[in-house]
Amino acid sequence: MKYVDEFREPALAHKLLARIKARSTQPIRLMEFCGGHTHAIMRYGLRTLLPPTVDLRSGPGCPVCVTANADLDRAIALAKVPDLILTTFGDMVRVPGSIQTLQDAKAAGADVRMVYSVLDALKIARENPARPVVFLGVGFETTAPTIAAAVLQTQAEELKNLSVLSLHKLTPPATRAILDAGQVAVHGIIGPGHVTTIIGADAWEFLPAGYGVPVAIAGFEPLDILRAVADLVDMIEDGKPAVSNTYARSVTRQGNTTALEVMNSVFHLGAAKWRGLGTVPASGLTFRPEFARFDAGRIFDVDPGPTREHRGCRCGDVLRGTLTPPECPLFGTACTPARPIGPCMVSGEGACAAYYQFGQDGS
Ligand code: SF4
Repeated sequence: MKYVDEFREPALAHKLLARIKARSTQPIRLMEFCGGHTHAIMRYGLRTLLPPTVDLRSGPGCPVCVTANADLDRAIALAKVPDLILTTFGDMVRVPGSIQTLQDAKAAGADVRMVYSVLDALKIARENPARPVVFLGVGFETTAPTIAAAVLQTQAEELKNLSVLSLHKLTPPATRAILDAGQVAVHGIIGPGHVTTIIGADAWEFLPAGYGVPVAIAGFEPLDILRAVADLVDMIEDGKPAVSNTYARSVTRQGNTTALEVMNSVFHLGAAKWRGLGTVPASGLTFRPEFARFDAGRIFDVDPGPTREHRGCRCGDVLRGTLTPPECPLFGTACTPARPIGPCMVSGEGACAAYYQFGQDGS
C-alpha cells in the first residue's frame, strides 16, 4: 500500500537501527508526546530493538487521558440535565469520573450518544430542534478546527440547540509544562505528526531555542519513528538541537493555515486543566465572546460536586512521563482494558492500554 509498505521495510529498519546503535554513546530519554506513537512503538516492538542507551517514554498526548476528572464530572452532570442530549467520542463514555462514567449516567437514563465526528452531533441537533444537544469537545489541535467549523456551520444554519463543552487542549504548552516541572529528564522529543500537520513544524522551535531540547516530528509507521529517533540521537550526540521534520509527506513548517484560521476564529487561548499537569495557562481553547452562545459551559449551570481521584491510579505520573505503565501497582491486575481504573487504560491512545495490549516491551 502506497505510503505504508515503504515505511515498514525491514531492510531500511535495520539500516536505521544500525545508525542509531553506531551513534548512541550516552544514556538518553526521548519522550513521544503522542499516544499514537506509543501504540506504534509497542505494536512494532521498537523499544526492544533500540540500544539500551535509548529510553522511550510516553507523554501526555492522549486527549481522553489528559481530561481532568473535574471536567469529566462536569460532562457527566451536563448529561443529567433533563431533555439534554450529550454527544461524545466513544472512548470518553468509559472513563471513570469521580464517582461514575458517562456510561453509568446513560444506564441511569441520561441521553448520552456516541458519535464518530462532530458532524454527527450537528445531525442530531437538526433532528431534535426542541432539545439541547451538547458535544463534548475533547481533543488537540487536530480536532479543534473541525469543531470550530461545525460551530460556524451551526451559526450559518441558525440552529439554536447545539453547543460545545470545549475541553480542547494545545500540545506545545503541555510539553513546556513537563520540561519546566523538571520531574523527568527529557533529552529529546518525538513530535506529534498529526498535530504538527496542523500547527506546523515551526511551532516546536521554542524547544531547541529555549530548552536546548531537539525535536523530531514523526509519522506513525515504524520507519518514521526510527528515523526520528536516529535524528534525535544525532542531534544530541552532536550537541546541535534543532527541529527535524521526518514527516515531510504531511507536515510543513507553517502547518495548515486554513485549519488554524478557522480554529482561531471561534476559539482563543485559555487556561486548561490537565490530568497530571494541573492547570496550565494558555493551554486550552475557550470560546471567543462573539461565540459565547455555543459555549455549553456558560449555558448550563451544573454542579458536578466534589472531585476525587482514583486511589492508586498513577495515570498522572504516566502522562508526565515520570512512570511507565507497568510501574503502576494496579497495571494488569486491578486495572485492565476490561475493567479500567484510569483513562490511560481506557483510551485507544492510552499508554497503559498500549503496554497491556502489546506486552511491556511490545513482545
Ligand atoms: Fe491508572 Fe490503570 Fe494506568 Fe495504573 S494501569 S496508571 S490504574 S490506568
